Amino acid sequence: MRFGYIGLGNMGGAIAKRMILKHNIVVFDLSESLRSEFSKLGAVAATSIAEVGNSADVVFLCLPTSNEVKEVILGKNGLTSSMKSGVICDMTTGDPVITRKIAEELPNNITLIDAPVSGGPAGATAGTLAIMVGGSDNAVGLAIPALESVSPNIFRTGNVGTAQVMKLANNMLNATNRLATFEALSLAVKNGIDPDLCAEILSKSSGRNYATDITLPRFVLPNDEPVQGFTLGLMHKDIRQAAELGIATGVTLPVINTAREVYHSAVNERGGNEDVNEVIRHYERGSTIKLAGSGKKQ
Ligand code: NAD
Repeated sequence: MRFGYIGLGNMGGAIAKRMILKHNIVVFDLSESLRSEFSKLGAVAATSIAEVGNSADVVFLCLPTSNEVKEVILGKNGLTSSMKSGVICDMTTGDPVITRKIAEELPNNITLIDAPVSGGPAGATAGTLAIMVGGSDNAVGLAIPALESVSPNIFRTGNVGTAQVMKLANNMLNATNRLATFEALSLAVKNGIDPDLCAEILSKSSGRNYATDITLPRFVLPNDEPVQGFTLGLMHKDIRQAAELGIATGVTLPVINTAREVYHSAVNERGGNEDVNEVIRHYERGSTIKLAGSGKKQ
């Protein structure tokens, strides 16, 4: 089985680096410097998307949104211009409605499956990512050897698009827990609690979540610039997709829609390329105290 990987950014790059340890893969990204980095790591760096389609039976994608995924698959010089048969495995946190439409437009001998991940670049490097997989058994079976080289935590969710639904449900919680945690921190610290002690108590109490356990102690409290490797723009995209899915399928989502407004104003103020933790500035202004970097430096 020949494997290909397109989209070598923060997340896709970290996943592809694990695949390289076990498989020969052909890779492509718009960024020439990423192509050259992967060539040095032992991958074959293609010069076009069509070249990947020509050289691989299973092509993995990890692109910003489903718009890029559609272009890479169905665009003029996209995968379908050169791929004779095989599987396209979309690891993007995409829009399940667009994903299902792309799947319907594919020629019969090419099958689309979705396999979004959770755990970030650090989880990919550690081999602990959660990989959610939607699609037919045959197509998933062809992708599994490469996915197993990334992480053993593989969950089948159903037909194509269902994995992205599940991923959006997860990121709703990631987004809202992050805001609620920053909000709790601002109240506690403004009223005299030591920031590091606050994080320690929260992570042993009933408000415990990923933001109390990881985001506060490792990224926000020790650093004035709390970079975690995921952008504000991508987080806003994920919760907008969740909100739109709620509208399309008749589900009210009051908490995520409030959170969406907070992230939206953070994107407007700071720009979509800033780290997701920059949303803490909203709570620093709201409490008139410094929160990022207020703990012990590590
Ligand atoms: P990123 O911006 O770091 O990387 C995207 C890469 O895609 C870039 O290298 C870019 O050059 C490349 N690209 C864009 N359009 C392309 C095209 N037409 N052809 C070839 N390459 C193209 O983004 P990321 O953080 O890697 O995120 C990718 C996806 O993974 C997003 O959907 C994101 O929501 C999801 N995700 C990210 C994380 C994270 O922590 N970073 C975690 C889970 C899921």
